[in-house]
Amino acid sequence: MPFEFQGKHVTVAGLGVSGVPAAKVLHGLGARVTVVNDGADERARAQAAELEALGITVRLGDGDTLPDGTELIVTAPGWKPTKPLFTAAGQVGVPVWGDVELAWRLRRPDSAPWLAVTGTNGKTTTVQMLASILKAAGLRTAAVGNIGVSLLDAVTGDEEYDVLAVELSSYQLHWAPSLRAHSAAVLNLAPDHLDWHGSMEAYAADKGRIYEGNHVACVYNVADKATEDLVREADVEEGCRAIGFTLGSPAPSQLGVVDGILVDRAFVENRHKNAQELAEVSDVNPPAPHNIANALAAAALARAFGVPAAAVRDGLRAFTPDAHRIAHVADVDGVAYVDDSKATNTHATEASLAAYESIVWIAGGLAKGATFDELVAGAAKRLRGAVLIGADRALIREALTRHAPEVPVVDLDRTDTGAMLQAVQEARRLARPGDTVLLAPACASMDMFTNYNQRGDAFAQAVRELGA
Ligand code: ADP
Repeated sequence: MPFEFQGKHVTVAGLGVSGVPAAKVLHGLGARVTVVNDGADERARAQAAELEALGITVRLGDGDTLPDGTELIVTAPGWKPTKPLFTAAGQVGVPVWGDVELAWRLRRPDSAPWLAVTGTNGKTTTVQMLASILKAAGLRTAAVGNIGVSLLDAVTGDEEYDVLAVELSSYQLHWAPSLRAHSAAVLNLAPDHLDWHGSMEAYAADKGRIYEGNHVACVYNVADKATEDLVREADVEEGCRAIGFTLGSPAPSQLGVVDGILVDRAFVENRHKNAQELAEVSDVNPPAPHNIANALAAAALARAFGVPAAAVRDGLRAFTPDAHRIAHVADVDGVAYVDDSKATNTHATEASLAAYESIVWIAGGLAKGATFDELVAGAAKRLRGAVLIGADRALIREALTRHAPEVPVVDLDRTDTGAMLQAVQEARRLARPGDTVLLAPACASMDMFTNYNQRGDAFAQAVRELGA
């Protein structure tokens, strides 16, 4: 039933990228909006002034007390479920929606269906590949979520869409109880954000919500059983199918790879006998194994929506990854320099290290509680050397000592931004022709850089200085 906003007391929890637009939209719908925010820094004060000028009440410096008369909370996705504000709301039966739930509820009745993607890693890439494929099929679409157009704009704006490619984080899914996608994919599931969710089970359960009520297909990763388990547990529309993707040869109801060709054995007539060629592995950029998996997931969602095979190929060919995701920077003296600064956790770095045969690995930064033994043990054979940077580099060094004692390690005892130039110079010394120098830090960047973009840019700049 549509929620009537006119005159309703709605509390928006958190200013920022989702809170400010949410407050404006709700105010525009006639709700009586109060925004609460923990901080009261300069940015918050500027945002508050902007909202107050519209007649919206803003309470800075106290995000914990439930404003009197609140009938609905719309929260920023990052707010922890254990916050006192939500406990108070629970006690008086006030519902809590996230930004995605709000967007979902504000859709027009005839609005575009959602093809949704979540996973620990690869969401942005997959959603962009999917949008590229849908565009190649002549559909009006956009990649929405953390990237490009905001979900709220996509559903409330004037632009008309046939279908949306939607990236969803585990936080957003947690706060989106009534979302029902046309089809959805969980790419992979590795421990991440466990402090927020409380446990791996809770994290998985929130990711699994993406499958609830799916109409046509629940797409899972054959190599990651946890994703298949989530499909099994989901309550879906009648006739909705479980579709697997695999880097191996596909069984019926799967997409996979045969002799360098991406093939579909799910959305074809007589799938027990037939398969449809979709594209070549070399059409995927970059053709690293994890990225081929992303392409297969995107293809599965597009095919679930009825997109022809040729559009999958054309869309994949037209796709270029965002910066700092396995970006080839340059070849210098027969050595390739690759920037995967976006590999901020061990799961992403594992995929990255698996993509090259002989690697000089630049790693380190803020570990966020991660351990590195499994990562290093799995990659040891492919490491020519390692150069460690950043605050928590000792954790990686210790893992290297334990699992790859023969691998030469340069430990840079500095955390200033200029350290990257020295790291690249050291990597060059370790590398031999045919090797790849790979920046895949397995850590967050904020000890040395503003963000992973700046870290990747510093790497690329240092590589250019080598070549100069
Ligand atoms: P997300 O939006 O989930 O953060 P991105 O597409 O931005 O994902 O990629 C984030 C990082 O994860 C990059 O370093 C990339 O190389 C790596 N990555 C991308 N796809 C996968 C995958 N399927 N499995 C593991 N790592 C991946």
